[in-house]
Order: sequence, then C-alpha cells, then structure tokens
Amino acid sequence: MPRKMRIPVLLWLFCFAATAAQSEQLTQEEKAFLDRIETTRAFKEIRHISEEVVSNRSGAGAGSVIAGTEDEKKSAKYIAAFFSRLGLEVEQQRFPVRVFEYEEPQLEVGGERFPAVNLYTTPGTYGQRDGKAYQQGNKKGGEVLALTLVDVGIGARTDYERIGDVTGKSVFIQRDDDQTGWPSLPLAEAAHRGAAAAVLYGCTSETPVPGALKQDSVQYQDAIPALSVTRADAGKIQQMLGSGPVTVSIRSRVTERDGDSLNVIGRLSGKAQPDQPVIYGAHMDRWFHGAQDNSTGIGSMLELARVFAKGKAPEHTLYFIAFGAEEAGGENTLSDWLTGSYAFTRARADLVHSTALYFNLDSVGWANHQGTLYSTPEATPFFRELVSDLDLSDRLSVQAGLSTWVDAWCFGGIRGTTSAYVQWRAPYSSAQNDELSYLDFYHTDMDRFDEKRISNLPLDLKIAALAGYRMSRSKVLPYDFSATASWLEEGLQADAKLVPSVDFGPALGAVTKMKEAAQSRGGELDESVRLSLRKRIYPELVYAGGFAGGLRTSSYSARLARLVEAQTALQQGQVASARAALETLLGASRHLSPEPYEDSRRRHIEMTSWNAEQGQLPPLPPAQVYEAYQLLDDSPELAKQKIYQAWIPVKSKLQGALNHLQIVMEEVTAAIEK
Ligand SMILES: [Zn+2]
Repeated sequence: MPRKMRIPVLLWLFCFAATAAQSEQLTQEEKAFLDRIETTRAFKEIRHISEEVVSNRSGAGAGSVIAGTEDEKKSAKYIAAFFSRLGLEVEQQRFPVRVFEYEEPQLEVGGERFPAVNLYTTPGTYGQRDGKAYQQGNKKGGEVLALTLVDVGIGARTDYERIGDVTGKSVFIQRDDDQTGWPSLPLAEAAHRGAAAAVLYGCTSETPVPGALKQDSVQYQDAIPALSVTRADAGKIQQMLGSGPVTVSIRSRVTERDGDSLNVIGRLSGKAQPDQPVIYGAHMDRWFHGAQDNSTGIGSMLELARVFAKGKAPEHTLYFIAFGAEEAGGENTLSDWLTGSYAFTRARADLVHSTALYFNLDSVGWANHQGTLYSTPEATPFFRELVSDLDLSDRLSVQAGLSTWVDAWCFGGIRGTTSAYVQWRAPYSSAQNDELSYLDFYHTDMDRFDEKRISNLPLDLKIAALAGYRMSRSKVLPYDFSATASWLEEGLQADAKLVPSVDFGPALGAVTKMKEAAQSRGGELDESVRLSLRKRIYPELVYAGGFAGGLRTSSYSARLARLVEAQTALQQGQVASARAALETLLGASRHLSPEPYEDSRRRHIEMTSWNAEQGQLPPLPPAQVYEAYQLLDDSPELAKQKIYQAWIPVKSKLQGALNHLQIVMEEVTAAIEK
C-alpha cells in the first residue's frame, strides 16, 4: 500500500487495537493457513539443530558442519528423517567436493597457549593430502612448526617493503576486509614473500566481537598453514611483540581429499498440471554451531514443510531442499561457495526452469528493525503487495536484485528463475552499522542460539509461507515484466551517466519498447512464455560483480569511467587523483605484488564454478591497470599509455554488452507481442 494511505489504517488500528494483529488484506483462508505456523516449535527446532544434531571439536571451529564430512551426512540424515515423518518423498543428490578435515590446532605464542582455528582450505603443519602423508614442520618429526613471529600489519605489499624479509617466519596479519578484501589475498602475498605460516585476527577493524574466533573459507588457498585467533588475544600477542622477539609454535593436522557432499530434497506433490512448483531452500553446512547461519534457515524450512504437509494436498508441487556445501567445497576455484545449489540447478535444469518461485532461507529473523526483501525484478510488485498485506511496509522494503552470497543466485542469476529472500541486516560492507551487528557474530563461535537475536523469525516464517501459498495458488504467474524493464532502465541510465562518451540510446530505446509491450500485453502472456522470458533476460544481462547482481554493462561502465578519470587526472598532472581512481578500480588487489596479482588473475580465468558458467564475474582489471598504478610516481607518461591500452578493450566490451542487451530486449518484445 502506498505511504500516504497508511494514516487511516493506523487510526483504524488504534480504534480496534484488539483486532489489529493481522491486516484485513489477507483472506480468511490465508489467515487460517498462517495460523498453522508454530513459532515456538521453530525456535526449538533451530536450537536442536544448532546444538544437538551435530556437536564436534573440529579444528575448523567446534560444531562446524563441513561439506563432504560425516557431520554433514548426519545433518542430512536428520533432515531426511524429518521430511519422511511428514510424508514427503525424499531424495538425495550427491555431488563432488574438495574436503579439508581439521583436528583442533595447538598454537603457542611466547610459550603461552591460545585458542585458534584453521582457516578453511589452508594446509596443516602435517597430515594427509589425497592419501599421501606430509610433514612441513621443523620440530617433533615434522609435526610442529616453531618460527619467529613478525607483525606485518594488514599484510599489504607496502607492509613487507617496510618490514623486510620474512622468509621462513610466521607472519601476524590483521585481517581488514575493507582494505584487503577476503583473507585469500593477504595469504597469497605472505606465501609469495616466503612466510612459512600465518596467524590472522579480526575481520574489519571493529569486528568480530573481541572474544570471537572467526572462520571463513579462504577459497582454495593451500599455500601455507594459517590460523585465526581472537581480537582480544591478538592484543596480548601484540604486547609480547612490543617487548622483543616472539616465537610461535603451531601443530595442526589436516586431511585433505576429494569427497561427496549432498542435497536433501523433500517433495510434496501437487495436483496441478502443468506443474509450476515452489521451492524452499536452506543450506545445512555451517561454521561453528551456526545458530543464525544457518540453523535458522533449516529450522524455518522444516517448520514450513510441516505447515504445508499438514494441510490438504497443494495445487502445485512444493520442494524443500537442504543444500550441502554452501559455505565451501568447490574444487579449485575462486568462488567455492554455493556448490550444492549450483549442483542442483545444473542437474535439474528443467524443474528449475518451470519453478514459479524459489524462496531462500539463510540467516533468518535477525533482530534489526529495518530489513529488505530482495527478489528478481518481475516479482517485486507481487512482493510489495504481500509485504503490505502483512502490514510490514514500514519495516521491510522490497528491492530488485540478488546477492551472489546466497543460494538464490544459482536460481535467479544463473537460471533466471523467480527468486526471493528476506534480509534483516545491512549488506556485508556496512553490516557493522546494524543496530545488532551481524558481523560481530558472522562465521564465529559466538553464533550460538539466542532467541533474542532472531526476534524477526515469526515474521520471516509468515512472509515465506504466504509467498509460497499465494504463488502455488495463483491462476496466472504474478510476474510483471514492466518492472523488469524499469529495473533495466534505471541500471542503464546510471551507467550512461558514468560514461557520457558512450551512446546508450539504442539499448535504452529497446528497453522502453519492451516496457510498453509488457504494459499493454504482459497480462495476456501464457505461462510458458512467462517462464521463458525470465530465463532469456536475467542470465544474459546480469553480472555477479560486487556480490550483488547488477547489469553486465555496469561492470564495464564503472571500469571505463575510472580509467577515463585517471587519464584526465594525469593529463592535468594530478597524480593523487589518478591514484585514487586506479585504487578504486583495483580494489584489494592493489595491495598485492605483481606475481600474486597475476596468479589471482589466472585463477579467475581458470575457475570452473557457477561464476564461470555465464561469465558473470568480470576478471580482475587487465595487467596494464596494475602496471599503471605502479608507474604513477616514476613515469606518469608510461602510466598514461598503459591506461589507454587498458581502456580500449573495456570500451569495446561495454559496446558489446550494450548491443547484446538490445538484441535480447528486441527478442523479448517480439515474444510479448506475438
Ligand atoms: Zn549462510
């Protein structure tokens, strides 16, 4: 409902406060359906999944459920049994993953023991790799590494230039994701510098909470052993370093091998033919006890399955899927997450194509006041109405776009399936500004069950349940492709502003025509056309950069704009401005030495993941950009040449992306008008 209409409704609520719990916009049937949700049952289930189904002392973090391990099979078994008890048909899908199983590491600094975890995909000091034993320690038969510890700040190239040789030493790194991106990059630099091990702490300068142990998959970074300690302990270690040389001793065993992860698929058959199913998905692997991420998702999904299964047979089939290997598990790739949902959407492409709605449940119910419901653009009108009918418009904004951090990306971004999820927290980069900071707990041992932190869970259950209920009953799939056109239009207009030298006219004109066609004929489209249009539009036009799906043209426009900015600045002799523009372009990779930079680029090009399928992640900027950045002070003339060399291919790629968008729009318009 529009904003100006809220006042009379609020007055009405005050007058009849006793009946104000639920909006009048819901039908009696819908109200009865939502009344079946039992929130206390869901909370109990979440606690049970987090604390009791799996409990271990994994060296990757006590309580972790890691892709390809017995713990993951245990979780899968529990979920499969739950589905069976509800009368769902259950099926399991296996897929290959790379597995790292860590024993609890022993870390001593200056003779004092500190709790630590092994960062995922880093090697141990000893263990087995594909059945072959290895030892890379220098004590106790090669099992223990005893080294001098050196503080290298955030582990940037300039830090090492200041500090000097670290060959054969252990580096002590402050992880600062705002500066250095994911820890993969500082670890690549440390290995390149000849360090024999690394101890890391933090995430940003403020997070996680001081006593929290942080885990993350560093994405197939098997260069040197790397442990993570708390920020509080890092403070103590820094004090030791302040009063003289410090020795670090690490003993950590890991078994690294190929293995299988699995997805658990529960199916509740519907009556309708043709069938356009609704799918609910949540990942079951986790770091530590993962109460929020993602016992809340699994627990919510089980409650939704119960609610749907207890009623009469649904119109359309419902699927409930517990995905394995969301956090990590991809083989030899830069983007090793979303592995389970990617395997599912590949193996069941026809089912995914005909799916009316995929609803993702990941880190559900976080206790912020304001949140966002993200969906593919054609479904934003459907969700705005739903949010308004639940009287949540003032707390939840509906936005087009899907993040590549959640399994919804494999459905919406890669397959073009209508997809959605709710997020009650700010995006990663600004999440520390949340009222209850999510980054304080994210992927740490502090992510333990606490009802107070997930107070929005009842709302999320209602939203998810109502979305599936309405979508599976709708006579006509409620997609509005004029909303898709508006989203494309906004994206293109923003791009056009960045690069005035490029003509966006033809592409924008094609989008406008598509919008007009969708406005006049969109309501008459038959179901198969509705399903196909999504697939025609999203996988080809969106890209995965910045972890939030935007337009493919945007990645090239942004890049070109920065190159032009740097060039103009250099022409005016403003080296500092040129540097700033190139730094934005290079991001965290500016902190790398040339060899690890090239190595990261090569990994990008060779990657074999969901990101490679549609070329959705643009590669790191070309080598000339990195080289220009290095040349700024000594030979600005040469830097100018490098920048110019870099921008020619970017401009032609932008032109290509614009032409492609125009062709897709013309075909979509023709399909609508047919
Ligand atoms: Zn998650």
